Amino acid sequence: MGKLYFKYGAMSCGKTTQLLQVVYNYEKNGFNVLLVKPIVDKKGGDTVVSRIGASRKVDLLLGENDKLSDKVDIEKLDSIVVDEAQFLNKEQVKELWLISKLYDIPVITYGLKTNFLGELFSGSKALIEKADQIDELVTICSCSKKAKFNVRIVNGEYASSGDEVSIDGIDSEYEAMCPECYIDKVLKIKKI
Ligand SMILES: [Zn+2]
Repeated sequence: MGKLYFKYGAMSCGKTTQLLQVVYNYEKNGFNVLLVKPIVDKKGGDTVVSRIGASRKVDLLLGENDKLSDKVDIEKLDSIVVDEAQFLNKEQVKELWLISKLYDIPVITYGLKTNFLGELFSGSKALIEKADQIDELVTICSCSKKAKFNVRIVNGEYASSGDEVSIDGIDSEYEAMCPECYIDKVLKIKKI
């Protein structure tokens, strides 16, 4: 049976680099892989770009109300790889899960688990519920401990409120942080 995979990690954990390597390996061996990205993420447009410079054009940009099976002939696919999977909706995750089983192909999704408030994205929640295999890709905090939180930085300040998806024009950066640094620098809680 085909499996649904969710590979998650904080910012800069090498998700996209690994994703591009997986796509490359499938294609090098003559397999037909579909690279999908939810349209809500405007970063990089229809191209997936890794921090170390590799890139590939997305085969399908999936709109919020799109059904994957309406857009492509699944019969022809050997595998589906999804970038920024935290932005999928519940129905899209369910469809990917059904595809992996009914068509017996691997569906490999990559994304963040939690948003900058430390809460699950809806796509990540659905993936945690449905995935057959969940893997964490590890990255470290600037203090060298394992990072868990994705902290949003706006105008040089750590943000503790705002929309889940940052609005266009407002340029925010992200930093991966361990729980101790998150409590100290973002929540600024010293004792309770
Ligand atoms: Zn730290």
